[in-house]
Amino acid sequence: MATRRQFVQSLPAFAVASQMMLDASPVQAQPSTPPQGHFHPKGKAPSEFTKEVLRKAKASLPFGDTRDIDEQKKGLIAPMKEMQIKADAGHVAWDMEKFQFLEQQEEFDSIHPSLHRIAKQNNNYGLYEVIPGIYQVRGFDLTQATFVRGKTGWIVFDPLVAAETIRAAWKLFQEHVGKGLPITTVIYSHSHGDHWGGVRGVVDEADVRAGKVQILAPRDFMEYAVSENVYAGNAMNRRMFYQYGVLLPVSPYGFVSQGLGQGVAKGSSGLIAPTRIVEKDIEEIEVDGVRMIFQNTPNTEAPSEMNTYIPEMKALWMAENVVASLHNIYTLRGALIRDALTWSKYINQALYLFGREAEVLFASHHWPRWGNERVQEILRGQRDLYAHMNNQVLHLANQGVTVNEIHNVYELPKSLRQKWDCRGYHGSVQHNARGVVNRYLGYWDCNPATLIPLSPGDSAPLYVEMMGGAEKILARARQLHDEGKYLLAQEILNKLVQTDPSNREAKDLLADVFEQIGYQQENPGLRNSFLAGAYELRSGIPQGASPKSSGPDVIRAMTTELFLDFLGIRMDSRKAEGLRFTINLITPDNGEKFVIELENATLTNLKGFLAEKPDLTVTINRSDLEQTMMGKKPLQAQIKDGTAKTEGDLTVLAKLAATMVEFDPRFEILPGTKGGPAVVKTADPFEAVPEVSDAE
Ligand SMILES: [Zn+2]
Repeated sequence: MATRRQFVQSLPAFAVASQMMLDASPVQAQPSTPPQGHFHPKGKAPSEFTKEVLRKAKASLPFGDTRDIDEQKKGLIAPMKEMQIKADAGHVAWDMEKFQFLEQQEEFDSIHPSLHRIAKQNNNYGLYEVIPGIYQVRGFDLTQATFVRGKTGWIVFDPLVAAETIRAAWKLFQEHVGKGLPITTVIYSHSHGDHWGGVRGVVDEADVRAGKVQILAPRDFMEYAVSENVYAGNAMNRRMFYQYGVLLPVSPYGFVSQGLGQGVAKGSSGLIAPTRIVEKDIEEIEVDGVRMIFQNTPNTEAPSEMNTYIPEMKALWMAENVVASLHNIYTLRGALIRDALTWSKYINQALYLFGREAEVLFASHHWPRWGNERVQEILRGQRDLYAHMNNQVLHLANQGVTVNEIHNVYELPKSLRQKWDCRGYHGSVQHNARGVVNRYLGYWDCNPATLIPLSPGDSAPLYVEMMGGAEKILARARQLHDEGKYLLAQEILNKLVQTDPSNREAKDLLADVFEQIGYQQENPGLRNSFLAGAYELRSGIPQGASPKSSGPDVIRAMTTELFLDFLGIRMDSRKAEGLRFTINLITPDNGEKFVIELENATLTNLKGFLAEKPDLTVTINRSDLEQTMMGKKPLQAQIKDGTAKTEGDLTVLAKLAATMVEFDPRFEILPGTKGGPAVVKTADPFEAVPEVSDAE
């Protein structure tokens, strides 16, 4: 229900009259205090418009269908009693206490009812039986830990993100089911870090080398486990503050859930290379006495991924290809756009290969589904979800709907909208639809006016001038804000903030607008992005610690070529203008050689070749070079102590080093947000305590 004032303001005549009044006396900002429990001194309660959006959403959703709530609860053997899991480094790696507020109210007016529902579903925290012989420890990390009984021990699917959380999961499992049997096999379902990072928590690398534990992975696993996050790694990490709400406090007004799970554990991650790669498209392997059929599904949810069917148990493991959500086609933190059609086809293949007889479907996130009818229902729904998105977005694109319009035009059919597992808890329909267009047609909408546009900061001042200056924009934006027209308000406020990053009032009002848009979102990535934007506009860029994406294991697994490629990215070419030299790099222990050239302010490398007359030749074992790759020992030091042998002109190394730049993990996204509180001391080094301060 709109208030009378809102109703009156919606009348065209009033708008004209109020505009005339505004011209005479700009509306002043209303002072307000944050709602109780809001973490930010400038935080606002949800508006009547936002509450109405959430009420309407609730009325449109199938709350009568509670099958997935029953499925989530089914098979509980033991809840986890300790609400926190400590990291070896001393801090809290995993904290379920923070998410208990979700249970304390039937609904929150600042949380989309569908997001609240999945967030409560993700509060499952304990040991569950899937079927006799298959168990899951759920809610210990972003991912679920799965244990399958082998002949001589346990087969682990996807050992979580952190060593600490998988260790705790294994402990709970051992207390109730494990019978002291060892882990004989680890299966990495795919190349994303939340599916292998914890492996060192339950497996000793020496046992892997000795053949006591085998590790299976899909085709091309190592290549993609390492390469996906390197080239644009710093930008991706920065964008995680938005998509994943890194440092956004857990609160009804902040971070609520990650959708796939409650979040990512802040523990230690590592990687042990697989001992066996599943190479064939469909490959049958006996794993510790259990017959398993693997289905490679490249270029689906991950570039390297596989499903697994266990015929004797009629159990179908769908990796991360089928979870209880629409997944990301476009990942907001940044990634290559995924192929929704290929994804759909592999789900369809799994349906026809295994799904027509499977009696249980389980996966690396969320909870299982039982009974063949239900398994088929889920597989068909998910198959159609990705196929529809691909085909119908392109259907519209072929009729001229552009990347800048598609999210306002495309929608899923009603039957899919009414399935809980097809709701947007990881990908949203809107940002995925734009992703599909981008995959096929790129970022350009084909309007020449947007082909090589001015940068936002360069075009905005003209808009501000033409709109009559800051005061008029603020007055109009406040009016739009008060009418609940948040998307229009952000258009003009963004121009003002781009023009004058020091305008505190503009930034605060834009933050208020972002906050309301954030509250209205079902999708955690969209919600977090708007709320993170509001946070940074109010307080500046948070300065707390953030999770690191690449530990020593990942760097060890990185090819020398990838490392050299990344040097080419780290190099500031403006500092390399006029430089020209050639280096031969030889790593005898793995028999590799590279020719590296700096020319045209560009650093290139070519594996397998050497220059005839290089300026410098460096010979160093790859195992020693890794110390340099990890930043532990500079190449100069390796040369000085004789670990690296050189021949030729050593000064080229100093010249090359002088062109390198350390990327700032806190670069500015919104204008005027750099330079927030320098160091924020809190009990949790991964969460910032917000303070109001001008960021200018
Ligand atoms: Zn995952």
